[in-house]
Amino acid sequence: MVSYKELGLVNTREMFKKAVAGGYAIPAFNFNNMEQLQAIIMAAAETKSPVILQVSKGARNYANQTLLRYMAEGAVAYAKELGWEHPQIVLHLDHGDSFEICKSCVDFGFSSVMIDASSLPYEENIALTKKVVEYAHQFDVTVEAELGVLAGVEDEVSSAESHYTKPEEVIDFATRTGCDSLAISIGTSHGAYKFTPEQCTRDPKTGRLVPPPLAFDVLHEIEKKLPGFPIVLHGSSSVPQEYVDMCNQYGGNLPNAIGIPEEQLREASKSAVCKINIDSDSRLAMTAAIRKHLAENPSHFDPRQYLKPAREEMKKMYIHKIVNVLGSDGKAE
Ligand SMILES: [Zn+2]
Repeated sequence: MVSYKELGLVNTREMFKKAVAGGYAIPAFNFNNMEQLQAIIMAAAETKSPVILQVSKGARNYANQTLLRYMAEGAVAYAKELGWEHPQIVLHLDHGDSFEICKSCVDFGFSSVMIDASSLPYEENIALTKKVVEYAHQFDVTVEAELGVLAGVEDEVSSAESHYTKPEEVIDFATRTGCDSLAISIGTSHGAYKFTPEQCTRDPKTGRLVPPPLAFDVLHEIEKKLPGFPIVLHGSSSVPQEYVDMCNQYGGNLPNAIGIPEEQLREASKSAVCKINIDSDSRLAMTAAIRKHLAENPSHFDPRQYLKPAREEMKKMYIHKIVNVLGSDGKAE
């Protein structure tokens, strides 16, 4: 048993309370390797933004969960070395799908876990979420739950259709489970292909796809039912077209990749939405930079030569999200 407190990590409780009251959101960035983690920590340290490091089941399979946990511990020390005196870093399990996975993360030094039982019938979702909450709270680990179903594909989480969260269920769900935050479905979607062209309209000037707007009416209805309760948005990459273009220009093939417009995420950040998950944008920034570098430098074969610009591009993207979209800069001075 390792307590996250010994590792210098924090849970999400205070962070979310301040974010809801202050009208901003905390970035939740997924990481799978050293360069992503370095870029996240550099961006958070430079902007003094609280940050949530997310580990998905796919990341655990790819990079090994023991290694990822030690990397998060290293990230705290690295943040201090960069001059961030009191780093506010959360290590969070993204989309835990069983009590056992959540328990193993709590026991292993995670400060926050998500139990995603949203695909189960309502009463079963409540029962499983409650079981995780009861275990995690003994160790002051915070728990995110999910109600409603997001469309899209993210690692091993996928659904063809989305079902908006039903506002009439949220009070009952939050009260009976005791969860600390709630991921809702209001039209965001996992992955880099959030919408089919048929679901979109086209901008007549640029010819680009314009996605359907988020269901802010559902969000506001939920806020009314649970005033001040921390709300989480998954699947909230904006899929910057500059990266899609860069990938395609240098040998990639990403037709019709599309995300959530940043203005809508900025708007959501001002509400009770206090955690916004961004994964695909980091993948795109990294891949775009690597493709460009290798295309322009065909003789390079030292991974540091192409991973360095990739890391720079990710850092730039993370800072942009923190400062211009989520508004969390300076909130962890
Ligand atoms: Zn997700």
